[in-house]
Amino acid sequence: MLYYSTNQQSPKVSFKEATIKGQAPDKGLYFPERIRELPKDFIKNIDHYSKEEIAFRAIQPFVGDTIPTEVLQSIVAETINFNFPLVKITDSIFSLELFHGPTLAFKDVGARFMSRCLGYFVKDIKKPVTVLVATSGDTGGAVASGFYEIEGVDVVILYPSGKVSSVQELQLTTLGKNITAIEIDGNFDDCQQLVKQAFADEQLNQELFLTSANSINVARWLPQQFYYFFAYQQWTDKGRPPVVCVPSGNFGNICAGMVAHLTGLPVKHFVAAVNANDSVYKYLETGSYQSQQAVATISNAMDVGNPSNFIRILELFKHEYPQVKNVVSSFSITDEETRTTLKNIYSKYDYLLDPHGAVAFAGLEKYLQKHLNDKGMILETAHPVKFYDVVEPITGQKVETPETIKGILNKKKESVKLSPDYHSFKQFLLL
Ligand SMILES: *Cc1c(COP(=O)(O)O)cnc(C)c1O
Repeated sequence: MLYYSTNQQSPKVSFKEATIKGQAPDKGLYFPERIRELPKDFIKNIDHYSKEEIAFRAIQPFVGDTIPTEVLQSIVAETINFNFPLVKITDSIFSLELFHGPTLAFKDVGARFMSRCLGYFVKDIKKPVTVLVATSGDTGGAVASGFYEIEGVDVVILYPSGKVSSVQELQLTTLGKNITAIEIDGNFDDCQQLVKQAFADEQLNQELFLTSANSINVARWLPQQFYYFFAYQQWTDKGRPPVVCVPSGNFGNICAGMVAHLTGLPVKHFVAAVNANDSVYKYLETGSYQSQQAVATISNAMDVGNPSNFIRILELFKHEYPQVKNVVSSFSITDEETRTTLKNIYSKYDYLLDPHGAVAFAGLEKYLQKHLNDKGMILETAHPVKFYDVVEPITGQKVETPETIKGILNKKKESVKLSPDYHSFKQFLLL
């Protein structure tokens, strides 16, 4: 299986090269040359497979022969070594809980898979391999945890000092070993600028093998198919496939679901629930796409004005607007609606959503109001405790802290403080 660049100006590469490079040299996104259908029997008999077997079968065609079977099997098993329960909320809406991993968000799946693939691929690289990431919060934690103790890879995470939540900061700064957190006296754009400059610095790249772990990497994007299959396995009414609603920001998650659908996974329809950042919603309404400046909302992991994976959705459907519209609808949800939904679902059904899940719930409700015979699920992408500062004032209750993160709450933060100055950052990397 080869990957081409969506800008069509770079050579095709294998899964290995696409993973190591991240982005194509022409600044396009790598995209699989072919999406093959899985055997019909596999989908029909999905109940008989373990989740490790399902995930392996889903990803193997995309990896090809770049990773031997036994290695890929263990990478897959380590990636998904937590639960993905489908929980009933109302008669027609279920929640696929993707927050049972180490950093309590769905990004764990992509980060765990990618880090292990990269760990395998860099075994024959002679230089020290350094993964650079700038984070505004969530991504950094998932990447740090995913790469923790991966041999041969050092991870340097830049985050804006004082601008991430306390739990997020602890997730970045308490691991140690091969994970270094740099606290930049500036904002997220400063962090991103430093990372960009480092990638463009030829001298630095001769000394170090630099790579990124951002969300466009195929090894982060494609394993997100796994849990769509796990959801279908748990869906009892197989004769009536679910409407699947995904709270979307960069659109990597929903786009992975569409890939799974094209390989044969039954999905009635996709719903992309977005907050006030509605460029894709507007595209679906009008057929024309305009990127926007991101605006801040209470579902801040979706505050994206120009979603990087949108191009992949177009690619999946050969840039045919009617085809895209056939498969996916979108709803834009205000902060007010998000709060009301979170509050109502908690009081009526005793189910606590996080703000992103609440956007999805509101979006799916709107869709189902016009499709009365359908049932669906939302992807609950994060545990509400990650956004307790938003959730607690709405419910008036304290969010319980899950056991998995209690461990880090009394650990000591370790970070390197730097000004947003490229020279000092470079010196630090070369030490
Ligand atoms: C990243 C994130 C999203 C958005 O996912 P995309 O793949 O970027 O669309 C939604 N919810 C949470 C909690 C996230 O962290």
